[in-house]
Amino acid sequence: PMDGLSPPWYPSPKGGTYLQWQKSYLMAATLVSKMSLVEKVNVTTGTGWASDLCVGNTAGAFDAGFPPLCLQDGPLGIRFADHATAWPAGITVGATWNKDLMYKRGRGLGLEHRLKGVNVMLGPAMGPMGRMPGGGRNWEGFGSDPVLQGIAAAQTIRGIQDEGVIATAKHYIANEQEHFRQAREWELPNAISSNIDDRTLHELYLWPFADSIRAGVGSIMCSYNMVNSSSACSNSKLLNGVLKDELGFQGFVQSDWLAQRSGVASALAGLDMTMPGDGLIWADGQSLWGPRLTEAVLNGSVPIERINDMALRTVAVWYQLGQDNQTLFPIPLEGNPRPNFSSWTNDKMGHLHESTDDDTMVVVNNFTDVQGDGKNFHGRLAQEIAAEGTVLVKNKDNILPLSPSGGPEHARGRRRAKYNVGVFGEDAGPNPKGPNACADRSCNDFTLASGWGSGAVEFPFLTPPIEALESTFDLDQVQITQVLTNDLPNDWSAVHGTQDLCIVFITSDAGEGFASWNHITDRIDLYPQKGGDDLVKKVAASCANTIVIVHAVGAVILERWIDLPNIKAVVLANLPGEESGNALADVLFGRVDVSGRLPYTVGKSLSDYGPGGKIMSKPNGIAPQQDFKEGLLIDYRHFDANSITPRYEFGFGLSYTTFTFSDLNLKTLKPKTLLPSPRPNATVLPPTFSTLLPDPETAVFPAGFRKLKNYIYPYLDNSTIKPEPYPYPSGYNTPQPPSPAGGGEGGNPSLYDEHVSVSVNVTNTGKRTGKQVVQVYVSFPSDVTDVSTGRKIDFPVRVLRGFEKAEINATETTTVEVNLTRKDLSYWSVGRQNWVMPDGEFTVAVGASSRDLPLQGSW
Ligand code: BGC
Ligand code: BGC
Repeated sequence: PMDGLSPPWYPSPKGGTYLQWQKSYLMAATLVSKMSLVEKVNVTTGTGWASDLCVGNTAGAFDAGFPPLCLQDGPLGIRFADHATAWPAGITVGATWNKDLMYKRGRGLGLEHRLKGVNVMLGPAMGPMGRMPGGGRNWEGFGSDPVLQGIAAAQTIRGIQDEGVIATAKHYIANEQEHFRQAREWELPNAISSNIDDRTLHELYLWPFADSIRAGVGSIMCSYNMVNSSSACSNSKLLNGVLKDELGFQGFVQSDWLAQRSGVASALAGLDMTMPGDGLIWADGQSLWGPRLTEAVLNGSVPIERINDMALRTVAVWYQLGQDNQTLFPIPLEGNPRPNFSSWTNDKMGHLHESTDDDTMVVVNNFTDVQGDGKNFHGRLAQEIAAEGTVLVKNKDNILPLSPSGGPEHARGRRRAKYNVGVFGEDAGPNPKGPNACADRSCNDFTLASGWGSGAVEFPFLTPPIEALESTFDLDQVQITQVLTNDLPNDWSAVHGTQDLCIVFITSDAGEGFASWNHITDRIDLYPQKGGDDLVKKVAASCANTIVIVHAVGAVILERWIDLPNIKAVVLANLPGEESGNALADVLFGRVDVSGRLPYTVGKSLSDYGPGGKIMSKPNGIAPQQDFKEGLLIDYRHFDANSITPRYEFGFGLSYTTFTFSDLNLKTLKPKTLLPSPRPNATVLPPTFSTLLPDPETAVFPAGFRKLKNYIYPYLDNSTIKPEPYPYPSGYNTPQPPSPAGGGEGGNPSLYDEHVSVSVNVTNTGKRTGKQVVQVYVSFPSDVTDVSTGRKIDFPVRVLRGFEKAEINATETTTVEVNLTRKDLSYWSVGRQNWVMPDGEFTVAVGASSRDLPLQGSW
């Protein structure tokens, strides 16, 4: 058991053990058996940062018939590309709680990546989980709860992969903060170690990865950080044990960019592909694999079975996703490079191998428009998602929705004078230098629609809120005054005192650790940035109807003004992507119901989130140690366990109509039993290959080969192989027993048996059509002692286990059903190394948020 430890887990389980993958593995085995050793190595090792057109590239195995692969960020669109959609960020998608939209966005992402020639999309992100509300990359994922992350990730993956593009579940695992995620980037000898106990790992951080594997994800990216003092990309327990044995992962594990910290050790630990290929330094042509892996196989340090499995897994995924279909994925030919864009220039002409000494200029950007058109223009879907991902948390006197003629819709009437609307804050307006003024979006200037880093894209356009307000208000009846700055001019009081309505825009931004803005990567505090609080207070001081719009990467502390009487409405619009303004107008003017719900808790202060909620911003040692002592109690679970009243709880959000819940019905589909069925035996055996080592001569650079500087090749300079193999790590010769929790993709299939059906009636008691998110929370029995240790097991007060969003017409009632699986009703027993469904009474609570649960039943 791994209780804060990284025990050895060897040898690496082979892929090709499930029926759903059998055909792909058989075809892959035929292809891999034609590969020479160097070709196999080529499949495992990137060609180096900027050596080819994508952020990650493999060189392929041409003789055997396997193409180079293009791996490209990322989670909200195609990074470094033109004419592609800038979708709403993950956090906004999480806030929709809409499974259908999650899938459709995935589908749109997949289609666009395919049409640009991307084989592997580097997303979705589901780690960080959001342990710390200030975590710099929380916005790339879907919210601070494993079930919400898991469902959103799985839906996204299904969408992406239904278009034939390989999705990547990242970052595995516990990369919860940016500070010290890597050693060099933060000028430390070592990266941070996230120290997690085994139960927390399973019930919290691993959960969405299990759902992703169950959804058939082709790739998983291991993260930069260490976990329990062993690098995530060479942690044999996590890669071999948890991913490949217990969760039955059939795809390939790729490293985050320069996250690989060892050569032989990472191969043995279960890493299958190193990205971008460079070892310790960007673009220096040196790799921990490449020729070193070739050599390690030839001298026996890495068993030939391992490199076969590494190549096989990648080729099998390629078949599984149908990428051998040359109509969908044309094999690149000389003069017809794929992808059809370059990450390294926006010009038509550029280098095929940017970081090398090859200066040949060729067409690298075809400017292929992949945004769809007409009815299928992806912007419409992006707008719908952004609108549904907008959360209304305060709406005093029902000031929203607004009428285009000014004022609240319900108070619409004839007026003599024009209605005065003041719009305040730079977040309402466009950046005069364009929406892509800062590299990788790493600044918080003007309207905020994305966080920054590899998860950001080039906006093809970005509709600023002011534009949408101007085009929606009837300007014959409404006078708009814009003060699009956060520093109000000295004479501004002439403006604000005369407004009938004031809309104030504020922001809070964060992003990936390789860039920073204003010393921020992670957010060390959760207040609005750029003087947002002062701006709101100044406006509200003399504007009786003030509406605040917040664009932010996550929770923002609203306490400095939320209770002021003039603050009538507060809209948390998250990160809306390219259609920001139009989506906001849809909500403000009630063209759609406002139906977003918080995917995180909005506390009254950062300390409300507990000690575990604070970013470690000063290293506490040469290998910074971060103990996840709060265990399962992050976000709402911490608030609930400590009876802390949040400002707005997880799951909360207002609608323009009202709903009631009734008739909770819990039906037993399968009786309670302590343990899942025994792990089923593998029905399929992995393909086998000859174990003869090739002649080292075949691994030497072919005569007359033209080497590009900094490009990573698999070849050796000569055939002299150092005979003595690198010693196998300790524990290598004690094979681990298969996990009882394994036996299928995502774990033992019986974990996914449905045991309880939860059904409930929801009635729209208001006057307009609206959408309600039915949320199902489970409280575990109170006196549980562990089956193996007899020790008492503590549980969070309640945990989200399912949800469904329903659209309901005024006065109508709909029945909503959510089924709970064995896994939903089990805890991870460290002693048993299995999921255990405890005896005793479960409470199932249903309602509109984590604290508004009008119906409860027991099971
Ligand atoms: C990020 C990954 C990203 C990769 C490639 C890394 O720095 O952590 O999320 O996919 O770069 O750009
Ligand atoms: C690159 C990113 C990469 C990062 C890693 C940056 O220079 O643009 O893609 O993720 O370095 O630190």
